[in-house]
Amino acid sequence: MLGDRVYADHAATSPMLPEVREAWLRASSTAGNPSSLHTSGRAARRVVEEARESIAADLNARPSSVVFTSGGTEADNLAVKGLFWAARDRGVAPRILASSIEHHAVLDPVEWLEKHEGADVSWVPVDRAGLVHPEWIAETIGQAAGDVALTTVMWANNEIGTVEPVHEIARICREARVPFHTDAVQVLGQVPIDITSLGAAAVTISSHKVGGPVGIGALIIDIAQQFTPVIHGGGQEREIRSGTLDCAAAAGFAAAVRTAVAAQAEHAARMRSLQAALITGILGAVPDAILNGGHDEFRLPGNVHFTFPGCEGDALLMLLDAAGIDCSTGSACTAGIPEPSHVLLATGVADSLARSSLRFSLGRTSGDDDVARIVAALPAAVDRAKRAGGRMGS
Ligand code: PLP
Repeated sequence: MLGDRVYADHAATSPMLPEVREAWLRASSTAGNPSSLHTSGRAARRVVEEARESIAADLNARPSSVVFTSGGTEADNLAVKGLFWAARDRGVAPRILASSIEHHAVLDPVEWLEKHEGADVSWVPVDRAGLVHPEWIAETIGQAAGDVALTTVMWANNEIGTVEPVHEIARICREARVPFHTDAVQVLGQVPIDITSLGAAAVTISSHKVGGPVGIGALIIDIAQQFTPVIHGGGQEREIRSGTLDCAAAAGFAAAVRTAVAAQAEHAARMRSLQAALITGILGAVPDAILNGGHDEFRLPGNVHFTFPGCEGDALLMLLDAAGIDCSTGSACTAGIPEPSHVLLATGVADSLARSSLRFSLGRTSGDDDVARIVAALPAAVDRAKRAGGRMGS
C-alpha cells in the first residue's frame, strides 16, 4: 500500500526510498560544478565519482564504463544512435536488428534512423510469450556476414514482463563482432545484473524505476566501443555525453542501485509469491481473463499482465482508479486516441484484445493487502467496463 492506495505501477516509477532521499539531500548541499578545478568543484566531482564507482561495483562494471545520462530514454537514444553513427563512420552497413517489442525509447530512435539516416532495419520477431529466439538473430547476422551496425534487444519488456535470453544474444553478437545494446531498465533490482559477464556493448539503466530520483540514468558501455555523441557541448563524460553533471542525483541514483542490488534476491522471492497470488486471484475472480507474457524465469517477478476481453483497457483503468488502485494499460496514447500496444500486437494478440489489457506492476510497497484489494475490485470493474463497451459498440 502507498497511503490508502494500492500502487501497482512500479514499472512506471517506484517511489523514492528514504535512504535515497537522505543521500540526495546530503549531496545537494555540494556547491561546486563537478567540472570546475577549484576546491568546491573537486568536492562535487568527488560525489559524482563515488556514485560512479558505487554503481559500477554493484553491477560488476568498470567505473569508466558508467556514462551518466538524464534517464533511460536518453541512454537508449545514445546507444542506438551513437552505435549506429559510429559504425557507419567505420564503413559498416547501416543495418540494425531491433526487437519488435522494444520500449519507445529504443523503437522511436530506430525508426527515426530508418526514416532520416538510411538505416536498414530488421525487426526481430517474438513468440506468443514475447520471447526473442536467439537463433533468428544468429541466422540474420550470418546472412549479413556480420555486416551489422548494431543489435538491440531489451533485457525485459516493460509491458508483459518477458525476460529475454540476452546472455545468449550477447554471445552471438560478440562472436560476429556486432555491437549489442540491451535496455535493462526493468530488470534492475528484479534480476541479477553482471555487466562483465554479459559482455554487451551498452546497457541502459534508469534511476527512478528503483526508487532513485527521476531525471538520471546511465548507459554502461564497453569502453572499447565507439559512440558518436547525441548531445554536444562541454565534453563531460569523456565527450560521450556533454552537460553539467547533477551530483545530488548521481548520489541518489547510487544509493538506489545499492539498495536494489543488495535486496534483489529477497525482493524477487517476495514479488514471485505476490505475483502467483495475484495471477491465481485474478483468474479466479475473472474467469475469462487471459494472462499475457512468459512464465516462471521468463517473467519479471513484479509483473502481472492480463487481457480482459470485452473491456476497454482505459475504462477499466479509470474504474480501478476510482476504487483506489493505480495500474497501467502500458499502451501509448496518441493525440488522445488509445493505440493498441505494439508489444501485444507483436506477440500475435488481436487488435481488439490488445486494447483490453492491463498491467499490474508490483514493487517495494506491495503486499498481500494490495493483491486482495485488486482481486476484490476487479469483477465489478470488469462488469461495468464490459457494459460500457457494449453501449459504445451499439
Ligand atoms: N526503457 C524501458 C524498458 C522503460 O520501461 C522505460 C520507462 O518507462 C524507459 C526505457 C525510459 O526510462 P526513463 O523514464 O528513465 O527515461
